[in-house]
Amino acid sequence: MALEKFRKEDTLAMRKKLIGQSCRLFYSDDPVKIVRARGQYLFDENGMRYLDCISNVHHVGHCHPSITQAATAQMDLLNTNARFLHDNIVLYADRLAATLPEKLCVFYFVNSGSEANDLALRLAQQYTQHEDVIVLDHAYHGHLMSLIDISPYKFRKLAGQKEWVHVAPLPDTYRGIYKENHPNPAQAYADTVKDVIDEVHRKGRKISAFFAESLPSVGGQIILPQGYSTKVAEYVRSAGAVFVADEVQTGFGRVGSHFWAFQLQGEDFCPDIVTMGKPMGNGHPLACVATTVEIAGAFTANGVEYFNTFGGNPVSCAIGLAVLDVIEKEDLRGNAMRVGAHLKDLLSKLQTRHQIIGDVRGVGLFVGLELVTDTEKRTPATDAASRVVKRLKEEERICVSTDGPWENVVKFKPPMCFSMEDAELVVQSIDRILTDMKTNDLKLENEDI
Ligand code: PMP
Repeated sequence: MALEKFRKEDTLAMRKKLIGQSCRLFYSDDPVKIVRARGQYLFDENGMRYLDCISNVHHVGHCHPSITQAATAQMDLLNTNARFLHDNIVLYADRLAATLPEKLCVFYFVNSGSEANDLALRLAQQYTQHEDVIVLDHAYHGHLMSLIDISPYKFRKLAGQKEWVHVAPLPDTYRGIYKENHPNPAQAYADTVKDVIDEVHRKGRKISAFFAESLPSVGGQIILPQGYSTKVAEYVRSAGAVFVADEVQTGFGRVGSHFWAFQLQGEDFCPDIVTMGKPMGNGHPLACVATTVEIAGAFTANGVEYFNTFGGNPVSCAIGLAVLDVIEKEDLRGNAMRVGAHLKDLLSKLQTRHQIIGDVRGVGLFVGLELVTDTEKRTPATDAASRVVKRLKEEERICVSTDGPWENVVKFKPPMCFSMEDAELVVQSIDRILTDMKTNDLKLENEDI
């Protein structure tokens, strides 16, 4: 079977003509055309193999045979909607419940992270009868209008901040207002949320929710200081609001040691609402909101039915169940822990030899490499980061990308089957490229400053 219908340049021309240009391509100067994939590898139209370090959606590996089998078997049998009684939706909800603290035991199935966050917003507002929302600086929670409004990463470039949205500082201990040398960054950053709440109250307004990713991704692969969420939850709840943990990027064992990244904060912390998406269906559009009986009860009590045409259909749930099975059977959390630790260790060793590496951080297979042009001032090396990304693709056929407000954090969120050898290859390649840049083009950038 021919995998390619058009030559690459023809596909590109058609895409330019037919697809909205705000849907950008990776490597827009010279996009890659991928025609098939397996595990952590992508193959282009010439059969060239690319190592995928960023597809956190294809969680258990691209085109995993168990997922394909579960999907096709259920498609062959039945696909309806969640208004018909069916086992898959309850089986799946039950399996998800087993991964979560007991109080998060009611589920709504949707089709994307954005839908999940939009519903979380509705649930929070309905339950609290308050309107306002606190979010972290640089956050991204989705592409629906309600979520653009609560995503500083987007609204700063668009219509601006709505009066019901309030922004708390990103608890980034590398370049935020409280750094790693602060005696208690968790408390200090949590107190900034308290300050925001007090300010909102002074204006006569009321908070419905505090929304945060359990590890802020777009914010630059940030690891929240230990104890931050517990303290924030205390402040938020005493204001009559709820804590929403966005696990769209970080859930399903990516951090290795725990199934959910919010669990890194310790057993005394439990959000009121958890949203999930990306890895859930291994590429199939499947997302979810988990919440408490009380919050779900308030949503039911408004008398308005919640119906989602595709959410929770038997095929989606069969896929979701298969993803959970593969995570367990292949010990992907164990793999994330071992390979992630090795990757971080190798990158930290690299840091001792390359001044441009300002910080290496991460848990499991959620890792960031922050590049700076000045170690003291921590000046973002945005241009260098984009050159590393480009050269990794062109010279090594390794796909990585950048995150963070200055796009200077090289991020790693590969499929969970990423191997030790993959980690070693990536680090060797970065080492070679940084060494080459040091002797050639980096000098230019330093002289410019
Ligand atoms: N929340 C976070 C943290 C995300 O990263 C994203 C997508 N990048 C979303 C929500 C929105 O998910 P989707 O694109 O599936 O609507």
